[in-house]
Amino acid sequence: MRVIAPGRVNLLGEHTDYNGGFVLPCAVNREIRINFEESKEFELYSEIYKDYVKQEDKIEGWKSYILGTKKEISKHYKTREVKGKIRSTIPVGSGMSSSAALEIAVALAIIKNRRAKPMNIAKLCRRAEHRYAGVKCGIMDQASVILSKKNSLFFLDCRELSYSYVPFDGIIVVVDSGTKHELSASYYNRRVSECKRRAKILGTKNLREAWEKRLELGSLDGELKKRAEHFFSEMDRVVEATDALRSEDMHKFGELMNLSHLSLSQKFEVSTPLMDKLQRKLSALCYGAKLTGAGFGGSIVGICEEEDIEKIKEAFEGFQIYFLRSTDGAWFSN
Ligand code: ADP
Ligand code: MG
Repeated sequence: MRVIAPGRVNLLGEHTDYNGGFVLPCAVNREIRINFEESKEFELYSEIYKDYVKQEDKIEGWKSYILGTKKEISKHYKTREVKGKIRSTIPVGSGMSSSAALEIAVALAIIKNRRAKPMNIAKLCRRAEHRYAGVKCGIMDQASVILSKKNSLFFLDCRELSYSYVPFDGIIVVVDSGTKHELSASYYNRRVSECKRRAKILGTKNLREAWEKRLELGSLDGELKKRAEHFFSEMDRVVEATDALRSEDMHKFGELMNLSHLSLSQKFEVSTPLMDKLQRKLSALCYGAKLTGAGFGGSIVGICEEEDIEKIKEAFEGFQIYFLRSTDGAWFSN
């Protein structure tokens, strides 16, 4: 038996998911693949880490994603023990969410019920990442890994957990900056709690509600206001972007990505001088570009056409660079 779980890239709607907002990611053609068989004891071998994870292992490091997922999933579903090998073509920490792909792959391998609801599986995997890896990520990663469809972007309303598909056949470029702030997880968690504080001052449950009511942000000062402004404008951009894609206006979509980056840099303040420089360089060579993921390093994502590939490769010599296509979400086969 095997499961395949793709990585994902988020094209618009950054730092909106944990505020109950909209996101626009898609699964990409890089994947985690687990070939396995049912077994008496649980044992998976990771080719990347050249090590086994077994049931009795301590829940730490890369093993925490697997054992954590197993714990959360088995609270809600009948599961089986499996023995197998994890192979991956998803670079770790490059903004393609290898962690969510790993969680979803493990979940699909161990769940016996093939009719289990994908969104439910996604929620449990996210809980595992919160509890055992300590990253307070939103639902976007896991949901897009399991529910995406080829040749489309996955529009997800992170509050309602409703979704739809927007046609998309562009080429996705990811440039890995090669830098990742050591403290990015704690900065990320700080942004999450800042946003909650802001919503409280505004008297709403979350920023999503404040956006819907079009609340004035005057009661917030300085930093808090800037963060909320990012959320408000980013929500508007996601809505505009889906319209742009439906009318096949890639230029407009690219422009919205550029504006998103500006806002992430100046209002949400999760960029770095290097990320800004890479974004400017990439956006000049394609429709548009922005940082993707938590920020403070990581990757820049852009969208381009086939004929842009060579010049982008030349311009980013020395950087890890990926050209990707949108693809179907995770699947299982006997
Ligand atoms: P990403 O942006 O790629 O999701 P994260 O830091 O969230 O980066 O998650 C990466 C972590 O997921 C790795 O440090 C490792 O613990 C785990 N992981 C990813 N791929 C594999 C793999 N093939 N085998 C074992 N663990 C993996
Ligand atoms: Mg991750």
